[in-house]
Amino acid sequence: MKNVVLLGSTGSIGTSTLKVAEDLPDRIRIVGLAAGNNAQLLFEQAQKFRPEAVSLNDTAGAGELQRAFGTSPQVLAGNDGLLKLATLPSADIVLIAIVGTAGLQPALAAIRAGKDIAVASKEILVMAGEIVMEEARRQGVRVLPVDSEHSAIFQCLDGKPPASVRRLWLTASGGPFRRTPREEFAAITVERALKHPSWVMGNKITIDSATLFNKGLETIEARWLFDVEMARVGVVVHPQSVVHSLVEFVDGSILAQLSTPDMCLPIQYALTYPERVNSERVQTDFAKIGNLSFEAPDPERFPALNLARRAGEVGGTMPAVLNAANEVAVEAFCQRRIGFPGISETVARVMDRHQAVAHPNLAQILEADAWARAAARTGA
Ligand code: NDP
Repeated sequence: MKNVVLLGSTGSIGTSTLKVAEDLPDRIRIVGLAAGNNAQLLFEQAQKFRPEAVSLNDTAGAGELQRAFGTSPQVLAGNDGLLKLATLPSADIVLIAIVGTAGLQPALAAIRAGKDIAVASKEILVMAGEIVMEEARRQGVRVLPVDSEHSAIFQCLDGKPPASVRRLWLTASGGPFRRTPREEFAAITVERALKHPSWVMGNKITIDSATLFNKGLETIEARWLFDVEMARVGVVVHPQSVVHSLVEFVDGSILAQLSTPDMCLPIQYALTYPERVNSERVQTDFAKIGNLSFEAPDPERFPALNLARRAGEVGGTMPAVLNAANEVAVEAFCQRRIGFPGISETVARVMDRHQAVAHPNLAQILEADAWARAAARTGA
């Protein structure tokens, strides 16, 4: 039985995680739940899973929630609430699925409290991969991937050391604009960008999948999770999203992990690792799928990939700057203040102005994050 704290329970990953918990009542006990503003759904989730404590980012809503619950569960609020949940004495593992950067400090707090973490929020490793992985090594805890691509690589590597890897290959669906000519990019609307061909996800990651910033962030995430340099992390477009990623070993052999796309599978693997546990949820019919195809990504139409590669190679505070500028630019696009190509233009402009700090501490990372947000806003 694993005692699980789930941060971001009301989102796309959060609700899938609760489906997995419902499938495996003898394996997974939910001891803590945190949400941003959706008090109603958090209330319903807590009624069903009976955690020890819940947390809502919105303080006023948290007060109302405590009145609705009575004495149990305990209701916490804001960033303090996240930190308390992340270090809850009964928790074995903390799954972090908060969109944006609010998951970073709870991730570090959980590690320092000796908990394993399961990471969906890629921002954590993009911003502070060096610090997080170093701290996890020091504390002897696991950092388990929830992202389907990283879960695939984790499953294929199966404990093999970085020296046995020639290249990690992250697959990308290519997003809704895989075949859209470059001349049409300026006219791409928010509505079109939010229609992902293979995954139903939160808005931020859906836009990132359309620009390929999501894949770019994932290359940096993979670099830290699996301790290989950026030059050994490749991207290949695979529109069917059945091959979730591949590992090319030094002898030329390639292992891949396949299934029909369903986030419940990598979530379950992270929560039951190192065991594999029976589930009927994911079924893959190859005859029905028919074809699996692969193509190279187009760096001209999708500059995000090279921007992320550059940020990962420069390292230090540059990935945090890429991530923060992208977040601001995605928000500006969703509010129709900039066009679709303006997202990567904004990120490139902000990165060009940044003097990266090598091996930054957390304060320097957060400072770079704040600087990049301000820089992206002037002109975005
Ligand atoms: P959603 O937008 O669907 O959900 C975000 C969640 O974060 C919600 O529960 C939201 O609460 C919560 N939240 C936001 N701010 C806070 C805060 N300050 N404190 C507590 N909770 C907060 O996002 P996704 O589930 O799609 O993505 C979550 C993370 O997982 C992202 O980093 C994404 O990149 C990553 N990821 C997602 C995948 C997917 O398939 N969706 C796949 C792989 C990775 P509320 O709604 O109540 O405001």
